[in-house]
Amino acid sequence: MPGIAIGYDLHRLVPGRTLTVGGVAIDSQFGAEAHSDGDALLHALIDSLLSGAGLGDIGTMFPDNDPAYREISSLELLRRAWEQVSGRIIVYNFDSVVILDRPKIAGHIAKMKENISSIIGLSPEKIGIKGKTTENTRSTTIESYVVCLYESRYS
Ligand code: MG
Repeated sequence: MPGIAIGYDLHRLVPGRTLTVGGVAIDSQFGAEAHSDGDALLHALIDSLLSGAGLGDIGTMFPDNDPAYREISSLELLRRAWEQVSGRIIVYNFDSVVILDRPKIAGHIAKMKENISSIIGLSPEKIGIKGKTTENTRSTTIESYVVCLYESRYS
């Protein structure tokens, strides 16, 4: 039976940090405050995968007080999570929303899809990524929602 799984993440935006979204470093005066690179899209995507696979959540798998994960690329976290997830579920597609007032992410979406595709082995057409703003009501954060349609390999 297919199932759906959701992931969500939020980071505060602060000066002097690189803004990384979907594994792409985007030119910005602000980046995510985080123990890792603070990639909200990939963190939400990892949580959707772990949820679908019955493997808990990203905070349990990669504790944010563990020095091993300090400044780690979230593409590497996705790679490690996928190693454990891929034997348990087949992923049919993802859809996602990245909520960020500025900068606009539209010009980087193709590369984000390519980054995710290269790890999961899912074609880029099966990976939805949309940018939305908060109409300047929450300009100090980046948020992301990801849903994943999957099927367990055991049922
Ligand atoms: Mg996070």
